[in-house]
Amino acid sequence: MLEVTEDCTGCGICVKTCPFGAILVVDGKAVVQDNCTLCSACVQVCPFDALVLERKVEEKDLSGFRGVWVFIEVEDNGTVRSASLELLSKGHELAKELDEELCAILLGDGVHNLTGELGRYGATKVYLVEKPELAEYNTDAFATVIVGLITKYGPSIVLYPATHIGRDLAPRIAATIQVGLTADCTGLSIVDGKLLQTRPAFGGNIMADILSANHRPQMATVRPNVMPVMDPIDGPDPMIVFEDVTIDPGLIRVKVIERTRMDEPGVKKIDEADIIVSGGRGAVQDGKLEMIEELAAVMGAAVGCSRAVVDMGVKPKSHQVGQSGKTVSPKLYLVSGVSGAIQHLVGMKSSDIIIAINNDPNAPIFTVAKYGVVGDLFEILPKLTEAIRAEKGL
Ligand SMILES: Cc1cc2nc3c(=O)[nH]c(=O)nc-3n(C[C@H](O)[C@H](O)[C@H](O)COP(=O)(O)OP(=O)(O)OC[C@H]3O[C@@H](n4cnc5c(N)ncnc54)[C@H](O)[C@@H]3O)c2cc1C
Repeated sequence: MLEVTEDCTGCGICVKTCPFGAILVVDGKAVVQDNCTLCSACVQVCPFDALVLERKVEEKDLSGFRGVWVFIEVEDNGTVRSASLELLSKGHELAKELDEELCAILLGDGVHNLTGELGRYGATKVYLVEKPELAEYNTDAFATVIVGLITKYGPSIVLYPATHIGRDLAPRIAATIQVGLTADCTGLSIVDGKLLQTRPAFGGNIMADILSANHRPQMATVRPNVMPVMDPIDGPDPMIVFEDVTIDPGLIRVKVIERTRMDEPGVKKIDEADIIVSGGRGAVQDGKLEMIEELAAVMGAAVGCSRAVVDMGVKPKSHQVGQSGKTVSPKLYLVSGVSGAIQHLVGMKSSDIIIAINNDPNAPIFTVAKYGVVGDLFEILPKLTEAIRAEKGL
């Protein structure tokens, strides 16, 4: 509960900051109304520390929490990020099993045109908040609005993509409403009505199954490119719940001054490519991954690599596949000179077809490969590159 202490001077800063209009000043003191969502925006701005938010951790009746929610991330070009469609697809399955609603949380400015698409990926309801202050992602504003929505409507599950934004947003929300968060999940299912959250642990050597037994909502961030996207469904548009909130600019502590894209210009990204040609320590020659890059160029593929290659300073981290790099699921993953440590395998084993080349017949990479070639990559790759060049008439 939110309490107003004797230190309150009635200055009114909290009144203008509250996104839900839940505070009034009466007789020189702040008075909290029933529609307070406990979002804590007022606590953060009170100059006299006169607002105290106390959340009691106690056994609760969890049966009132219903609905599977997915946070929708919107790309700079105004489209829905594919990681959110993956989560809606998984959420669709979970909601069906729980016999609950699948809802999308859509924040932004001028994003209402996306609601139909969210419906085609299973959302039956969209909580829509449109404000100029939400045009760009901002931790304070997004977290405050979502905390308010969660407190008001009480979902049983909230899922976020484990992107830069999701990884920033979800922990702040979890800390504010004092619930757990399972980060970087690679699997989700329902067991006895609860969300079973699976993620790699102990350096990827074991998969840990995690349940939130006593608190709601159950919250998880989920790695992109792990959950398949469902075929779009035909059906009625989702119901839209318009939430009107006021966002005080004073609440937003981070100002975006400049944006710089870190992508290498003209270089295909591994998390978006259909074909990845990947190399490990065994493919590095004279500090380069030249044969891998040549083969990738003739195949129109992206270049991936193991962490060893990144640690050697041969490729930037944006090319790293695996647990501490990116998870990929291309149509074809052609990998040479990678031993197949578990931390690499978790990042690529869901690829449609894996072809591995290694001179060690016992290399673990062969356990996930559909086709395995035992031999010296420095002999095999140039021949393969030549053959593809000839085939394509290059
Ligand atoms: C917490 C944690 C997170 C990690 N995250 C990641 C991650 O995200 N991604 C990742 O990749 N690793 C990660 N690692 C590191 C991982 O454990 C391995 O050390 C790493 O994947 C090894 O890289 P590699 O296979 O390229 O090298 P190596 O294990 O050295 O394997 C090289 C392979 O090349 C083969 N080879 C050598 N010469 C030739 C040749 N001429 N022809 C054919 N084959 C040849 C060898 O037989 C060998 O199998 C992580 C480790 C930890 C502890």
